[in-house]
Amino acid sequence: MRIYNTLTRKIEEFKPIKDNLVTIYTCGPTVYDYAHIGHWFNYVRMDILIRTLKANSYRTKWVMNITDVGHLTSDADEGEDKIQKKALKEHKNAYQIAEFYTKHFLKDMHRLNILEPDYLVKATDHIKDQIDLILKLQEKGYTYEIEGDGIYYDTSKFAKYADFAKLDLDEQEAGIRVQFNPKKRNASDFALWKFSPKNSKRDMEWDSPFGKGFPGWHIECSAMSMKYLGNTMDFHTGGIDHIPVHHTNEIAQSEAVTGQPLAHYWMHSNHVLIDNQKISKSLGNGISLDELIANGCTPMTLRLHILESHYQSQSKFSYKSLDASKKRLEELYQMAVLKYQLSDIKDQFTFNFKEAANNIKDLLSNNLKTPEIMAFLSDICTQTITIGISKLELNDFVYFLKKIDQYLGLDLEKVKDITKEQKDLILKRDHARKAKEWHKSDAMREELLKQNIKLNDFDDKSYWYRIL
Ligand SMILES: [Zn+2]
Repeated sequence: MRIYNTLTRKIEEFKPIKDNLVTIYTCGPTVYDYAHIGHWFNYVRMDILIRTLKANSYRTKWVMNITDVGHLTSDADEGEDKIQKKALKEHKNAYQIAEFYTKHFLKDMHRLNILEPDYLVKATDHIKDQIDLILKLQEKGYTYEIEGDGIYYDTSKFAKYADFAKLDLDEQEAGIRVQFNPKKRNASDFALWKFSPKNSKRDMEWDSPFGKGFPGWHIECSAMSMKYLGNTMDFHTGGIDHIPVHHTNEIAQSEAVTGQPLAHYWMHSNHVLIDNQKISKSLGNGISLDELIANGCTPMTLRLHILESHYQSQSKFSYKSLDASKKRLEELYQMAVLKYQLSDIKDQFTFNFKEAANNIKDLLSNNLKTPEIMAFLSDICTQTITIGISKLELNDFVYFLKKIDQYLGLDLEKVKDITKEQKDLILKRDHARKAKEWHKSDAMREELLKQNIKLNDFDDKSYWYRIL
């Protein structure tokens, strides 16, 4: 299996640490709002990585975190805690906000067929692990205190700090120093622990050897990834935005303590643009899955749409392109239901379906080439719909559908058969057609359409499929 590794900026052959168990950590959501399509592009792509590993017979141990504390409105550790801020706005407490949006996130994950991580871990359940890690950093001399503010990581003490993101620290120093906390020793320093404000009580705060407060955003991922996966994991994944700050800081924290690489492979999902702009809270262009569904898009359509772009390239989102994906999904479902309506020719072979399944696996294993897979599938689809499936090739065809679902999670196998009444109606219509009773046959076609069933007419018979 080959994959692009951000660490080396190269596509590399994957070599696991242990022969048969691959460890993966994915930076999860900050649960203060509904996840938007930008997030879903990211998580569907991570799900494809897991599916590809499984397709290559690896067992996987996948950890994803839920950030329910400590993520401030600026990634550079300035501003307010996003969850606490939302709690104030909605007259709830921070725990209620985090619980609500976590539940919603998991519901959306399920709707999008994203595999369940083996461990879904919350920052607030791991405060002690984070304090312990800060203590270790303190012991090794990587920290300093800013009075009344918090404990900070001194990035100048970690010689490799700029390497991962190829940062220009001098430029950063010149640009940022004036705007941000002038008490920081270096512009890139970040908070490990923030002190609670003197005069007000936070919903989420804990006692610690440093004083009452809460952990910074970056320390949770270092503490939890190492707790569940050890000092070095195979994969660390997340959005491309994380490279210059969050992941750079995770590496600085973990590697300063262990002296070992945090991960052998770093996989990042590129941005999604709407109207050529990045999705951001301030632009208000973050469309949630619920909004898409309200606009007639099924979760599976979004999933297929995501697979049509490669994780390394910037993708553009528009409702128009989503319509094209909907049509392609409909075609895939049209192909899938041919297992219920075999062709009358007994010995025909439409396609070598076993070979096709292998081709898809190969494309996945070569740096997750999902756009090529979708184009390949589209060709197979057109041919299969035109030629049909014979009884002789039914087993291979069902195997193929199963494999597509395993590799891509498109639920082709789940598309249901129609009822006996609907089948009878189609037969009746075929008779009317043969008798050239067009008026009658049109009426029956309309009746089926009302039940979301469309017909593909051939000379001797018609094949049904569902419309989305
Ligand atoms: Zn993280």
